[in-house]
Amino acid sequence: MQLHIKNTFTKELPADPMTENTRRQVEKACFSYVTPKKPSAPSLLHVSQEMANTLGLSEDDIKTQRFLNMVTGAKVLEDTTPYAMCYGGHQFGHWAGQLGDGRAINLTEVTHDNKRWALQLKGAGATPYSRTADGLAVLRSSIREHLCSEAMYHLGVPTTRSLSVSLSGDEVLRDVLYDGNADYEKGAIVCRVAPSFIRFGSFEIFASRQDTATLKTLTDYTIKHFYPQYEGGTKKGYLGFFNEVVQHTLEMIIHWQRVGFVHGVMNTDNMSILGLTIDYGPYGWLEGYDPGWTPNTTDRQNKRYRYGNQSQMGLWNLLQLANALYPLIGETTPLEAILQNYHIEYPKKYVAMMREKLGLQLAIDTDIQLIADLEKNLQASETDMTIFFRNLAQVSKEESSHVEDAFFAFAKAAFYTPEEITGTIYSDWETWFKSYQKRLSEERLADAERKVLMNKVNPKYVLRNYISQLVIDEADKGNYDLLNEIHAVLKNPYDEQSEYEHWYAKRPEWARHKVGCSMLSCSS
Ligand code: AMP
Ligand code: MG
Repeated sequence: MQLHIKNTFTKELPADPMTENTRRQVEKACFSYVTPKKPSAPSLLHVSQEMANTLGLSEDDIKTQRFLNMVTGAKVLEDTTPYAMCYGGHQFGHWAGQLGDGRAINLTEVTHDNKRWALQLKGAGATPYSRTADGLAVLRSSIREHLCSEAMYHLGVPTTRSLSVSLSGDEVLRDVLYDGNADYEKGAIVCRVAPSFIRFGSFEIFASRQDTATLKTLTDYTIKHFYPQYEGGTKKGYLGFFNEVVQHTLEMIIHWQRVGFVHGVMNTDNMSILGLTIDYGPYGWLEGYDPGWTPNTTDRQNKRYRYGNQSQMGLWNLLQLANALYPLIGETTPLEAILQNYHIEYPKKYVAMMREKLGLQLAIDTDIQLIADLEKNLQASETDMTIFFRNLAQVSKEESSHVEDAFFAFAKAAFYTPEEITGTIYSDWETWFKSYQKRLSEERLADAERKVLMNKVNPKYVLRNYISQLVIDEADKGNYDLLNEIHAVLKNPYDEQSEYEHWYAKRPEWARHKVGCSMLSCSS
């Protein structure tokens, strides 16, 4: 196993001079050196071979003891000095002070094919940033992070990746529902991979401490390595950099809306400076299309991070980043102009994305109404988002002689209670369906050609909440066949894959209110 180690973060940024692993406030430093905890009986559960290839690791490499040692923290690789990053964050709208990598430890940075990757273990033990918690992770949340990172990547959504998920052999105490019923669960470790794990909160922490010198060092580092088209140290460069982060964040959220992904904890410490989906915690996938839905039970009251509010929260988080970068720029007007642009760009990009989901190539003004009416109808009776859009590609632009049959032929499978589609709910659908067919008739593409394009943006297979739970239940019993199968299905989410047709199914009734399916706590 040969990795090309090339550290920049620890080389170019200030380190915490203290090296003891004690919990503390760390000032004027971007990270603290820390060694992963030795797992008592490490074992690999699943490796993403595509991710391994991207790092230059072969099928044989991932079978070696060295690989197992690396991805579980059992042994630190030679020439590397693992570290935990210092950052702060706004949690649920409030400044929370120093947070940092409480249970993430960066191993090293490597390069392959002219790309740089940071490798990070999640759940490998306490760090100076662990506050009151243990630095560990359990099997269920680790499987969820591993599978979802890879599923998102194959869906074409910007995301951090996951190389592997392993068992540590240690037991971890968790109170899943925060109701005083703590129990031991299997400890697990995910090896995450991304060009960088720097977050909005990485900048906010220095701004909050009026430490402009370290803020500048970190910003210049970020620009140099990840936004090299801009010049660090200049006002123009900082504004260009900020504008680009805004664009990346916006694009990422448009993708989330497209596939029905709800992040669940869009705190500023969970916002990547590269616009990658990061920190898969109590996330979820829309089953019934419902803009008011959030999977996160901690957010049940305000639903701050609900599906329909993600773009607003992205903007709110970008405002916090703007505040953090302000000391380097000294002027609010250009920052405000960039943020203002988000208000204009987001709805435009959203409509463009929805047109693609609907298979519309021309841009016609009335499409906005067509989309709004569709969103209203989708909510009138519980309608499966994934199945609805995927089946929509079956609609023909030829006017139907029998509208009801033509409508139900594609839509019926998406309704959770088809018997509810009567009266005004049905007549609204009929009206919409006729407008849609009429609108399609204005398009140049033939039905078959349109279907090909629609199937590239409307996935057939997503990581439905209940599917994760089935994988977890099996894995808890020591059976990993389903983990392998689901990982394989989600590698080609836009393909038909007839052998996996059974995963193209609405959420079963048993999963409607089950913990782990429709509801997730932050306990992980
Ligand atoms: P999250 O919102 O889950 O991304 O986490 C917020 C903060 O809590 C981050 O600083 C995490 O590192 C920290 N944290 C979460 N779980 C643990 C844990 N089990 N041990 C230590 N720190 C944790
Ligand atoms: Mg986090």
